[in-house]
Amino acid sequence: MESEYAMQLAESISGIGDLQTIIDVMPTPVFVKNRAHRIVLLNTAACEFFGHSRDVMLGFSDSDLFPVEEVEVFHAADDRVFESGIDSENEEQVTDATGKVCTVITRKRRVRLGEAQYLVGIISDVTAYREAEAHNRFLAFHDTLTGLPNRALFSEHVDQAVLRHRRSKAPFTVLYIDLDRFKEVNDTHGHQAGDALIQEFAARLTAIVRASDTVCRLGGDEFAILLVDHRKTSDVERICRRVLEAATKPFVFENGVRAFVSASVGVADAEAGLSNVEMQRRADVALYQAKREGRGCFRRFTTALDKQISHNRRIEADLRESLATGKGLEVYYQPLFEAAGEALAGMEALIRWHHPELGLLHPADFVPVADESGLIVPLGQWVLEQGCTMLARWSDIPLAVNFSPVQLREDKCVSRILGILKKSGLDPARLQLEITESVILDTDQKIRANLKALRKVGIKVVLDDFGTGYSSLTHLQTFDVDKVKIDKSYIQDIGSDHYAVVHAITGLAHVLGIAVTAEGVETDAQRTMLQSIGCTELQGYLFSQPLNSKDAEQFLARTPKLVCAA
Ligand code: C2E
Ligand code: MG
Ligand code: MG
Repeated sequence: MESEYAMQLAESISGIGDLQTIIDVMPTPVFVKNRAHRIVLLNTAACEFFGHSRDVMLGFSDSDLFPVEEVEVFHAADDRVFESGIDSENEEQVTDATGKVCTVITRKRRVRLGEAQYLVGIISDVTAYREAEAHNRFLAFHDTLTGLPNRALFSEHVDQAVLRHRRSKAPFTVLYIDLDRFKEVNDTHGHQAGDALIQEFAARLTAIVRASDTVCRLGGDEFAILLVDHRKTSDVERICRRVLEAATKPFVFENGVRAFVSASVGVADAEAGLSNVEMQRRADVALYQAKREGRGCFRRFTTALDKQISHNRRIEADLRESLATGKGLEVYYQPLFEAAGEALAGMEALIRWHHPELGLLHPADFVPVADESGLIVPLGQWVLEQGCTMLARWSDIPLAVNFSPVQLREDKCVSRILGILKKSGLDPARLQLEITESVILDTDQKIRANLKALRKVGIKVVLDDFGTGYSSLTHLQTFDVDKVKIDKSYIQDIGSDHYAVVHAITGLAHVLGIAVTAEGVETDAQRTMLQSIGCTELQGYLFSQPLNSKDAEQFLARTPKLVCAA
């Protein structure tokens, strides 16, 4: 059958004109050269591509179309096809008749017709493919929002820096940058504003460094910079300061609204033998530290810091485990006494943790980690549950529980506390929440609203550790607290420097109708002085150490006039 069709076609083709008609249908440029490199046949698409009419192009050689240095290359390539009979395929960039630079693949094949040899060339324009490929490659290695290199490309650049450092000790530094309070901008002004801020910050970062450095967006509000040119420590620190400035400069959105953020920066310098992964880990560790130290600052990686942070991460993991299994955690109770008659005035719940390997841990060993990791929320809830259940069994005695700002910032803070009170049956008026001055300074409206709601149901708010923070007397005046606890460091020095301060605080508190507890009372002399100053309550080792729940029960049972409801 095939040969029948071929015969029919052959009969219809009467000469070169018919062949021309057929190849003119083809949308891709096709040309035929003879052994002397001259064009003997070409289709309309080829004429359009080269920008000459067929009459002009017939008989053209490469030298009529291309610069002389390219002609030699083309001829040599064509000769190889003529001589070997092996097809060739070349990708090259050419300028077409309209002046557009295109990427083309030219495929060439030798054809024998009788004695003569010809070379048939077909040109495929792959410009669109190549552009799409390049775009995809760009997307794979860049962040779409900012156009900055992404983590993958950044890592490649760090890899190269590591290799250069191995070869020639060329120094380099990795900075990890994280925007502080970016989430607030997103929540308050919307995602579009958030995106605009990220773009603007990316532009500001790029303006700080040299072209040979790499600025990257790792994702979200996290950026990284690779500094590769030789720099002194002071140069790196100057760049860090400029990064911090770039973040604190106000961001003005299209609608004129301004947003304020800050940045934390972690710095890791190249050292012999460090891998890419280790360099980036170090920058991350340093960043973590910058955030811990209050954000808006830069910190350099050190081995001591690394140890501290690994320890904290271990504490966090183990505490998570203890909270899940309920093993090892215990609430201790330290009594508070009325200063005048020294009757029992309350019990303060203090958390302890029997760590499987590290032994008995005090709050200072793990509460800061719990605060940072958010574990303070379930931990604090557990302490409150334990305390309420224990104290509900005894009439009247108030329960003091330490509360962290993280807990007070929680949406469900109030309902959670009320739920625990209800379940345990403890009267809200018996609960005292001990907060620190940092809570008062916190501008978070949620904290203020939660504290207000808690006071409304009768829960007391106590300002703990007064004297260690800002110790602002105006805080006592302007903020609604029921009681202030003067920090033990003041009480310990009351015999010398701090008498006047304790006296003044107590005096002002009395004027404002606020009760005063002195904590950390260890000696009779301190007790006598505090009584004479007029403190309302006293607490300290002089009266009782914090007691485990069994001892606390026994203590309560011994206390006169207390009635056990159980
Ligand atoms: P704080 O609330 O000011 O508790 C008083 C701390 O002083 C307790 O340490 C207590 O054992 C200690 N102390 C009591 N009397 C004396 C004394 O006479 N002399 C001396 N030198 N120290 C005395 P602790 O139990 O290690 O607690 C330390 C801090 O940890 C607490 O300070 C409180 O801020 C925090 N904390 C304890 N339990 C919790 C908790 O459940 N949640 C939260 N968020 N924080 C807690
Ligand atoms: Mg306390
Ligand atoms: Mg205290």
